[in-house]
Order: sequence, then C-alpha cells, then structure tokens
Amino acid sequence: MVIFMYGYMGKILRIDLTNKKATVESLKEELVKKFIGGRGFGAKILWDELKPGICPLSPENKIIFTVGPLTGTKAQSASRWMVQFKSLLTGTYFRSVGGGFFGAELKFAGYDAVIIEGKAEKPTYIYINDGDVEFRDAQKIWGMNTLATRDFLKEETDKNAHMVMIGPAGENLVKLSAIVTDVDFRTASRGGGGAVMGSKNLKAIVVKGSKRPEIYNEDAFNEAVREQIESYKNNPGFEGFHALGTNSAVYPFYALGHFPTYNFKQKELDGAERFQAEVLSEYVVKHSGCWGCMIRCGKVFKLTKGPYAGTVWDFPEYETHWSFGGNLGNINIESIVYANMLCDLYGLDTISTGVAIGFAIELYEKGIIGKSETDGLELRWGDPDVIPELVKRIALRIGIGDLLAEGTRKAAEKIGRGAEKYAIHVKGLEFPAYDPRSAKAHGLNFVTSPIGASHCIGWNKFEITGVPKKVDPFSVENKGELTKYVQDETAIAETAIFCLFPFNFEMMTIDLYAKMLYAATGIEEFKDPKYLWLVGERIFNLERAINVREGIDGRYDRMPERIVKEPVLREPSKGQVFEEEVLLKDYYKVRGWDENGVPTKEKLKELGLEEVAEKL
Ligand code: SF4
Repeated sequence: MVIFMYGYMGKILRIDLTNKKATVESLKEELVKKFIGGRGFGAKILWDELKPGICPLSPENKIIFTVGPLTGTKAQSASRWMVQFKSLLTGTYFRSVGGGFFGAELKFAGYDAVIIEGKAEKPTYIYINDGDVEFRDAQKIWGMNTLATRDFLKEETDKNAHMVMIGPAGENLVKLSAIVTDVDFRTASRGGGGAVMGSKNLKAIVVKGSKRPEIYNEDAFNEAVREQIESYKNNPGFEGFHALGTNSAVYPFYALGHFPTYNFKQKELDGAERFQAEVLSEYVVKHSGCWGCMIRCGKVFKLTKGPYAGTVWDFPEYETHWSFGGNLGNINIESIVYANMLCDLYGLDTISTGVAIGFAIELYEKGIIGKSETDGLELRWGDPDVIPELVKRIALRIGIGDLLAEGTRKAAEKIGRGAEKYAIHVKGLEFPAYDPRSAKAHGLNFVTSPIGASHCIGWNKFEITGVPKKVDPFSVENKGELTKYVQDETAIAETAIFCLFPFNFEMMTIDLYAKMLYAATGIEEFKDPKYLWLVGERIFNLERAINVREGIDGRYDRMPERIVKEPVLREPSKGQVFEEEVLLKDYYKVRGWDENGVPTKEKLKELGLEEVAEKL
C-alpha cells in the first residue's frame, strides 16, 4: 500500500497576499509519483499555474518554496530549500536553492511546499506557526538590512523560528537581489528572487514548526543513512571540504584554469597565491553548517587588520572569492570578505554583483564609460576600496549602481557603444567562477541550463573533480552526453532537496538516494534508480518547456562573444575557445530536442509529459 504521508507532510500551503488568505491543499499522488518533491514540485506547479508572458514583477508571478521527502530527516545534507519563480533578470523559469535551517523548519510546520501569489497592499511578513498563518505588518522593518530584520522578527515571533527575508536590494527591485536566511545569512542568491518578493511587498516568511516527518521503514532508513555517513567519511574530499568549504578549491582551480580573471580576459593574476588554502585558513574562527549536515562547510571569519578590522561574519565561499577577487583583479582578502558581508546585509547575489562590477571596470578601462557615468568614481582593476562602494550603490540604486542593478545584459543594452561585448552572461544570468573555454561540458551546461549561466544546474564533475571518471576538459567529444548526465543527476538530487556538494565528489550517489527514498516513503517506484533518472530527465525537460512557452528556445542558448572568439591567455587553457556550434548540435541530439533546442513531442511523451507535448 502506498501512503503518501511517509517522508512527506502531505500538504501544500497556498498564500494569497492580495486577499490575505491562506489555504491548505493535499499533496496529490500524481505529483508525488511523477516529480518526487523539491525542484520537481516547483517546476510542475509553475507549468500548471504560471500564465505565460506575464511581467515577473506583476502580482501574477508566483513564488514557490519547496522542500523534499528527506528534508528534516536523519539523511545528511538533504534539508535545503528551493525557491522557483519567473525571473526578471533572465525572463526565464528560475530555480534557486538555499541552506540554513529554513527548509527543515518549514517541513516541521507541516508543509511540503508553499505557493505565494498576488501582492500585499503594504509591506507584510508572513508568520507560519504550525497550522496558523498570520499576515503581519512589516512597515517598520521595510528598509532594514537582513541582520536587523532577523533580530526584529525573532523578537516579535519566536527566538527559535527560522526565516527567509529580503534586504533593501529586494525592496528596491534590484535584479541581482537574493533571498536570505537567518542562519549564517545563507542565500538563495541567483535570479533576482529578492526582487520578486519585493514586488509583492513581502519582507519575510517566518516559520516555526513542531511536527516531524514519519519514516516508512526506520531500520532500512537508518541503515541507508549509516551507509551515507561512511561514504562521506571515506571520501578523499571530505576533510578538505570540512576544513575550508569551497575555499579549498580557489587556488587549485585558478591553477587549473577554471577560475577566470579580469572579467574573463583570463590574464595571469599577480598575487594569486593569496588565495591558497593556508592563507585563507588564517581568517577562519569557527565552522558552521546547514541543518542535518555533518560536512559543515560554512566558515566564520574575523578580520584583525585593515579598515574593516573587527568584522566577524560568514566567510565568502569559492564563488565570492572569485567574483570580488580574481574577476576584478583584486587580491585583497579583507575587501572581498567585507563586500560579501555587505551583499548578505543588503540581500544581493555576490556572483552577479561581482560580474556587474567587473563589466563596469572593463567599460571604464576601454573608455566606453567615463567619470560622468560613474559619479566621479575611478574604476580600476584590483582597487579594493571601490568594490564595497559599488556594492552599496547597486543595492540602493545610486548613480551607476542604478544601471548595474539591472544586470549586465540590460545595462549593456542601455549603454550601447559596444558594451554588449563585455557583458558576460547567458540568458541574462551572469557567469559564475568557471571558464567554459577550460571545461567544455561545464560550459555546455551554462549555455543550455534553463536559468542561464549557472554552475549549479550541472556541475561537470567528470571535468572538474575527475569523478566518477576523468575526461579531457578541452575535448568536445561526448560532451552532450556528459552534460545531460550531470544535469539530470542534479535534477534528481534536488527533489530531496540534497546539497550538490556531496554529489560533486561522489560522496552521494543516485543508487543510495533510491535506497533512502524508498525506506523513507515506502513508494515502490522510488527504489529503482532507473526510475529516478527518468524523473530527473522529466524535470529538466519540463523546465525547458516552460522557457519555450515563454518564447525562450535555442536562439537564447548563446555564449558571450568573448567566450567563443577570444582564446584564453594563460596556461593550462591557453588558446582555448568554446566551440559553441558543434557542442550544441551534439547536445540537442542527445537530449532528443530539435535543431531549435525544443523538446520533440516524442521525447515529451516518452517522459510522461503528454499534456506538455500537446500544449507546446
Ligand atoms: S555541504 Fe555545506 S552547503 Fe551543503 S548542506 Fe552541508 S553545510 Fe550546507
């Protein structure tokens, strides 16, 4: 017998901000079986409910928060939460993931998903306390940074509650704004989710829960979790990852050519040794982590010298050391950690914000913009002081910050004069800290991902960490297959919602997930890893279908000119470009999509998406 209460809480909470109404819906069998949870639920709800062509800032946009069937259980690294919506930065379907304690708390309050719709008349926050849902006045905290907001809301609700919130950047509809949690200020940072919340006058969602998910077969589940823990402990990547988080990769990835410099000009970075693990370790004073994860990759740092001495905050990770560091020719660690803190406080995506700043510096260097456009600021590579200043101006939309707050694609369009050439994005989403010219399947993921240039949609472990087997990162051979593999695997993992780091190092596998999922839910289909692979492919194709419905097809699968035309300047990738045409052709074929990058009707039917095949 299938009982959907095991693993799941069995409920979706729908919140209508316009009418201040909260309703509870039962989880449907078809949704559970076909999409499992997390990313699958959000994609299906958006396909069913999002009206095509709407403005992402309109009340018609929806924000879906989801958790998964393993959230809040003993499973390791499976208590993240996801937010899905139509992005105003990219115009696409979007999915962004956050850590901390919010996911587990939402599950404990009794929900597998929350659908937010409409727009509140005035600034509001929602307090979910188990079955009670209150719409509370947020006027007194509108304008506050995330630290002040967190403290205020804990005081006004429950000190043990957890939350997602926006800072001034989200309120100002900055397209690079993030959704921020209370624990370690971890964020669902990409795609401008903060602005979508801001457009709805929604400052925060605070949650307190007292329930716990029931497990179908406790003995089998405990055994699977023991296997997972052993796998973590025996993995060669575990110790380094625990000691310094993703920062342990900064210098090695620079040396391997993955870590781009100077807005992807890829010149040598003088002083790159500052990013070596031994140097970064000196700043760390404490470890931290998400609910239910033994890796505890989060680090707390303390600055002891320089203009920001005394600052104690969550340490930036790999991407941020790049976006405010190598990407800007900056080796001043203090300025990077300070800019990271400002982003957390204002509620900004550190990746997109750093790339937007790099774009502005290059335009200034090339004389495309001058002091009249920068409010008198001189923009120079490697200047540590200008970075925090620009972060502030972007969050508050001051001067040039107002232009950069639109994202590099829109800012380049507004500036004209050839600025587009230096805007490093796909589908409007700024690049993360990897150079597609140095890892072709990794790049193929950037260009085909449903949300634009994201490393989180299909981090190519074959090329980057060499697991489960090492492949030549410069070759174009078989890269369609390898890209599809990691994209589908990611979609499966994000039904749980698992953190991707353990999958990137093969500490976690889909086979083990199947074992855990069946033991937790008792759903027969879930014990077959092949079934999970089918679900992963189904989710990825559904996301593509949402974009195609919005008019975003293969024409938008395009790299910036620099990536396809300018060879890398430094070893070991010197001379490499991204062979876009040949790679895309191979990928579309492997995916079963037509030459325009649209899933064929046959492919959609094969994946059990008959209704999508009819409507697309
Ligand atoms: S590895 Fe890090 S980000 Fe992932 S769940 Fe664990 S603590 Fe959170």
